[in-house]
Amino acid sequence: MKRILSAALALLLLLAAAFVVFRRPWRGGYKAVRTVSDKAALTLIIDAGHGGEDGGAVSPSGLAESGVNLDIAMRIDALAAFFGVKTVMTRESEEIAYSDAADTTRERKTEDQRARLELIRSVPNAVFISIHQNEYTTQQPFGAQALYAPTEGSRELALELQELLISSLDTTNRRAAAQIQDTIFLMNSLDCPAVLIECAFLSNPGDEAKLRTEEYRLKLAAVITAGFLQNRGELSAIYGLYDHDLEAKE
Ligand SMILES: [Zn+2]
Repeated sequence: MKRILSAALALLLLLAAAFVVFRRPWRGGYKAVRTVSDKAALTLIIDAGHGGEDGGAVSPSGLAESGVNLDIAMRIDALAAFFGVKTVMTRESEEIAYSDAADTTRERKTEDQRARLELIRSVPNAVFISIHQNEYTTQQPFGAQALYAPTEGSRELALELQELLISSLDTTNRRAAAQIQDTIFLMNSLDCPAVLIECAFLSNPGDEAKLRTEEYRLKLAAVITAGFLQNRGELSAIYGLYDHDLEAKE
């Protein structure tokens, strides 16, 4: 029964992503034929922000960031895999196994971030997408924002994602893609293309209400997966992963 349910979910995800991908006009015909070789394809690393002792931001009514991040990340994982994308998740549950050497919550959080960094660095041809939720001291700020690492390909991916997040989820969102603060350890320690998405504001009642629905999390996952798929050609080029035979047919 579980297998049937997950097949149905995957189909729904596929339809959602196909809708997002294919309703956009081609920007030049080349994207339709630029295909990645199977031998050395990109690996999409999906990072559910926080987890374990670090719940991240919490909304006024008690919705915690870490669980929302994990839910969206798992949906992206299912959807990307459905499109034949190799994926790796930095965590797949709310539990994180810390070593005995880490005594304080702060040390355990640092250890976790270093473990994620090690994992990401071990993956060849990686593209990193980190899922987070935002918060602010007042209720007004809302809307998704894509923040990019200072590595090749990150800005372009973030611009694509930001455009899709606005056009597909909330056309009143005035946020723009921006380079992430240099104080964010993980995003500033990577060598691969990397984007951190603040999907919504837990401090904004409208955003929070949407985040509580499965439908909105599915939409977020579909949009983020579609953004990755849209940019797959450019991201592959960074690693020299073109399929030259197919490219020659342009
Ligand atoms: Zn966060």
